[in-house]
Amino acid sequence: MLSIKNLSKIYSGQKKAVDNMSLEINSGEFVAFIGTSGSGKTTALRMINRMIEATEGQITMDGKDIRKMDPVELRRSIGYVIQQIGLMPHMTIKENIVLVPKLLKWSKEKKEAKAKELIKLVDLPEDYLDRYPSELSGGQQQRIGVVRALAAEQDIILMDEPFGALDPITRDTLQDLVKELQQKLGKTFIFVTHDMDEAIKLADKICIMSNGKVVQYDTPDNILRSPANDFVRDFIGQNRLIQDRPNMRTVKDAMIRPVTIHADRSLNDAVEIMRERRVDTIFVVGDDERLLGYLDIEDINQGLRANRELIDTMQRDIYRVRVDSKLQDSVRTILKRNVRNVPVVDRDDKTLLGLITRANLVDIVYDSIWGESEDSQPDTGIVESNDIGVDPS
Ligand code: ADP
Ligand code: MG
Repeated sequence: MLSIKNLSKIYSGQKKAVDNMSLEINSGEFVAFIGTSGSGKTTALRMINRMIEATEGQITMDGKDIRKMDPVELRRSIGYVIQQIGLMPHMTIKENIVLVPKLLKWSKEKKEAKAKELIKLVDLPEDYLDRYPSELSGGQQQRIGVVRALAAEQDIILMDEPFGALDPITRDTLQDLVKELQQKLGKTFIFVTHDMDEAIKLADKICIMSNGKVVQYDTPDNILRSPANDFVRDFIGQNRLIQDRPNMRTVKDAMIRPVTIHADRSLNDAVEIMRERRVDTIFVVGDDERLLGYLDIEDINQGLRANRELIDTMQRDIYRVRVDSKLQDSVRTILKRNVRNVPVVDRDDKTLLGLITRANLVDIVYDSIWGESEDSQPDTGIVESNDIGVDPS
């Protein structure tokens, strides 16, 4: 266990960069430090392995004061992944990987074996070990950067915004990699980020910092459920509260039944059904509920005027989500694309199973903020979901 007690840092002649920080991190836990720029995240992280000496306070590892440990001993226990520029350009991948083991005076054989083991762990070919970083893609370099952190078999790994400069897809892949490695190896990870999505995705506990102070230190669930104050609430942002629902994690949990029509029916039938069900979009299905297309009112008007069949009128280009995809991702898409709804399909991408609408997402957002039960609602002006200008289809 890592225990931080009343830790402060004052750079010469300035206000406290870290101000009386206290928290405990259990072995095997993944902790994210998050906050705005200048809130003291990097300073706090670097005091943990004494790259920066604390002005006040104490850090203990399994009860042992880190100031009483010599630098080599400390490095044996705590690894550090540098912000963005991970790899030394003039060193081969192998030399990069075994940098810290070399400082720790491992034997040649042990370093060799470790380099091979780690490159396999990130699915890169062994002969990459003799290449230089510039011969690898940015993503590959970052993966090496990630596993390199594990080379010296330290118990605690510190990472300072390692993915900050990456494109979203690479970042996502690397986040998965980090999480996978962390769980597989049972290491303690302490991670600096300014991205709440990243913190929620990776961390067992999040430490929210502002002006050098810890504003809240808790699990993502608890922080989302009960933000300590307005700062945290703003920091989380409203959309993100959706993720808070433990049983509401996939699209399946939020979808409703779509209104459908079989492809061999007529446009007039479609009008009839839509009028009766009060919807502005109808989904066209074939046998076995196979999703073929959709029609909105405008399509139908045009089709009727041109005297076309339903099957020739429907729109076939449909954005769809899979039933097991994450709710938060579809929420983002719906909000970003400004679409009213998204059909939910089975894993085969074909069978229509349900529908996610803006309106039912809004319900979920409100449930997350104010809870589901009647009596937990605040007496402030509650907005009914029908009043917020979305079509409750
Ligand atoms: P973060 O990582 O959250 O962006 P930092 O820990 O880098 O925050 O910085 C916290 C505060 O300390 C900032 O006000 C920053 O300007 C200041 N600071 C950081 N490093 C130094 C330094 N070496 N000398 C003086 N002030 C510093
Ligand atoms: Mg920083």
